[in-house]
Amino acid sequence: MRTTLFVNVLLPLPVAGYFTYRVPFEMNESVAVGKRVVVQFGQKKIYTALIREITETPPPVQPKYILSVLDLQPVVNETQLRFWEWMAAYYCCTPGEVMNAALPSALKLASESKIMLNRDSVIDPETLREKEYMLITALQECGSMTLSEASRTIEQARIIPVIHTMIEKGLIVTEEQLQDRYKPKTEWYVSLGEAIAGEEQLQKAYEDLQKRAEKQLELLIEYIHLSQCLTAETRSVTKTELLKRFPQGSPQLKALEKKGILKVEEKQVSRLWDPQVKTGNETITLNGRQEEALVQIRKEFVDKNVVLLHGVTSSGKTELYINLIRDAIEQGRQVLYLLPEIALTAQIINRLRKYFGSRVGVYHSRYDENERVEIWKNVAQEPAAEGELFTEVAEKIAKYDIILGARSALFLPYSNLGLVIVDEEHDPSYKQYEPAPRYNARDSAIYLASLHKANVLLGSATPSVETYYNATTGKYGFAELPERFGNLLMPEIQLVNLKEEHKNKRMKSIFSETLLEAIQQVLENKEQVILFQNRRGFSLYLDCSSCHWTPHCVNCDVSLVYHKKQNMLRCHYCGFSTQVPSQCPECGHPGMMMKGFGTEKIEEELAIFFPQAHIVRMDLDSTRSKYSYQKIITDFEERRIDILVGTQMVTKGLDFDNVSLVGILNADNLLSYPDFRSAERGFQLMAQVSGRSGRKNKQGKVLIQAYNVSNDILKFVLSHDYISMYNAQLAERKRFIYPPFCRLITITVKHTHSDRTNKAASELAKLLRQLFGKRILGPEYPLVTRVRNFYLKNIMLKLEKGISLPLAKEELMKAVKVLAGNPEFSGVRVVIDADPL
Ligand code: ADP
Ligand code: ZN
Ligand code: ZN
Repeated sequence: MRTTLFVNVLLPLPVAGYFTYRVPFEMNESVAVGKRVVVQFGQKKIYTALIREITETPPPVQPKYILSVLDLQPVVNETQLRFWEWMAAYYCCTPGEVMNAALPSALKLASESKIMLNRDSVIDPETLREKEYMLITALQECGSMTLSEASRTIEQARIIPVIHTMIEKGLIVTEEQLQDRYKPKTEWYVSLGEAIAGEEQLQKAYEDLQKRAEKQLELLIEYIHLSQCLTAETRSVTKTELLKRFPQGSPQLKALEKKGILKVEEKQVSRLWDPQVKTGNETITLNGRQEEALVQIRKEFVDKNVVLLHGVTSSGKTELYINLIRDAIEQGRQVLYLLPEIALTAQIINRLRKYFGSRVGVYHSRYDENERVEIWKNVAQEPAAEGELFTEVAEKIAKYDIILGARSALFLPYSNLGLVIVDEEHDPSYKQYEPAPRYNARDSAIYLASLHKANVLLGSATPSVETYYNATTGKYGFAELPERFGNLLMPEIQLVNLKEEHKNKRMKSIFSETLLEAIQQVLENKEQVILFQNRRGFSLYLDCSSCHWTPHCVNCDVSLVYHKKQNMLRCHYCGFSTQVPSQCPECGHPGMMMKGFGTEKIEEELAIFFPQAHIVRMDLDSTRSKYSYQKIITDFEERRIDILVGTQMVTKGLDFDNVSLVGILNADNLLSYPDFRSAERGFQLMAQVSGRSGRKNKQGKVLIQAYNVSNDILKFVLSHDYISMYNAQLAERKRFIYPPFCRLITITVKHTHSDRTNKAASELAKLLRQLFGKRILGPEYPLVTRVRNFYLKNIMLKLEKGISLPLAKEELMKAVKVLAGNPEFSGVRVVIDADPL
């Protein structure tokens, strides 16, 4: 009797729970937890699903059969599955949605002629055309669709060209057939042929060639030289490499191949193999402070899993990380080093490779799919021989035991994590907003580490209020680096009162004379400047000087931003763009004025004052391509850029050694955001960007331009006083009950009709009040009330400490279900965000 098996599988869809399928007898041997299978779901749809569980218990209803098993080895391990389940429960989504975020898309499949969003690409609405935006919005809602459905959605018969460009842009993925999209990379290798069994034959070949084929002999000698095949240190030689040394050598190579003297064969290689990387063995000598902090961290890890390292900018936090990484890998364990921004990996990877060589791997969403699959497989520690991957160079590729990456690196198939470092732990980029799972990578890392019994080190010069609170209340361990490395002083920060400067006619365009003079001085000293402005684009908005009409987005309730380079008005929420009106459409007045300023305008205005200086802008607009960010950083490091103008991007943990001035152009708009975190955020941004100023043996300078110079936060920034900022914020949070004194969950109700949004939100709030009482706030209009044609309304749930979070979330989901079951509210979307930032 053969056993009848069933599998419970996870579908890559926002549907709750697992689905049961029957295993055909002939597949009994091939099914295993963590392998992918192809199943039918719904009427005709075919999906790749992942096996969660194998059981002999039949479900109440006769299930469908699985259609095929895709993997020889599981692609996901048990710990990962448990991590996904936790994430789904905590962030109120389905494990299928987490799976979608976790698996590289090359491991995911879609049925024939189906398209879906490319979860790996960061969709920047600004780059979208109208049809693309429509399709993306539709896909965000329904997950996937066939091409004919897509064609109906965007009302365009000729859908293929649209799809084509969208695939090229990396926005969506499509599948011809059900098949693994992972394609190994191959390379042609040259080696000695069958005819050359030993030195004797080689000698004979030499002699023969000398007489009749000198060119061939030259090529052979070049090969022997390159491969060092007469020594013990033989290395493999690629055809490309050989022909580079011996241009136009193809005919000779062919001839030698024919004679059996050389052999040319195609082999699979790794995309990760980088011959430039030398195995590092540098060592660090810590100074006294650093040594103390390291001892302290190790001591704290004895009985705490999470430790906060509060170290001022340039105190040498990275040096401590390197020591702790060494501790972990010496014990044979894996290390995950998280950074908030893909961009930062470039600088850190070079530092890490000096110490750990090719044991460090990088993983983030800008890698192409194939690269990501290779890193995935590498981390999974699959035996190289079996999958035939990496055969030729297998020995040379270390198994990565250190992974450096942005938040998606959390999802790699770790088997034995020993340490997780979350650098710049306060950074809001750790939070994912769209699509679900809306997770915070820092918090998720702490959970992941607990599954592996690993330690977590959170590092920051400006810790988040929550983390610092956890450290001071003893939940986390704590260590400190209060001084910069090498007697470097903290920068001298000076406020520039824009009211005064205006009054005294010391303003030139958007710059105070104080700032311009300081820049001039720095340029004369051949040092560098960073200017920070947290808005991109040229001008914030256009304004009619007669009736004050301003152009608004047609899809969203925001004003459009002027982009000079394209001479267009653009919406930063949905990507809508339109021509600049030559006259006011409201009153016909011809004078449209530009108000406010962004990075593009700063760059242009600066060029007027400093025509000799090399000025470069770094923001979302200027760093779209894969390597553009890296190029700017390298150019700046190597001093080919004098002034770097940028948004948030320039504030993050970059380490430059020739920057002596940082200018913050408008501090007021950093502090005026109506949000309970606004003061904390403003402090963090200003302290971080200030930290870029200062070089060996010379104190750096920071100038902050502001209208409201009496703001408390500015005072804390001026005196480098994190603790006072923290205490003031904590008191406020306590008073008005905000995190860390409660947990927040935001519930956003969306519909394309404002009436329905309002009604549904009121109804949901009513349902929730029955469950949570006064803990429910709202519904309220968010700051932007309409985005991409959806009207929005927010409800806030404030849960005080001590309330069971899982239970509360279950109740919340029930209420959402009740709302969804009401036909009056069909089409209404409810988005839940746990721990919103
Ligand atoms: P943080 O990460 O705290 O901002 P870094 O680790 O980047 O600080 O250190 C700042 C600078 O000081 C870097 O250039 C680093 O190489 C140098 N540095 C820090 N500690 C040491 C040390 N013990 N020996 C040599 N250089 C150090
Ligand atoms: Zn007007
Ligand atoms: Zn818009």
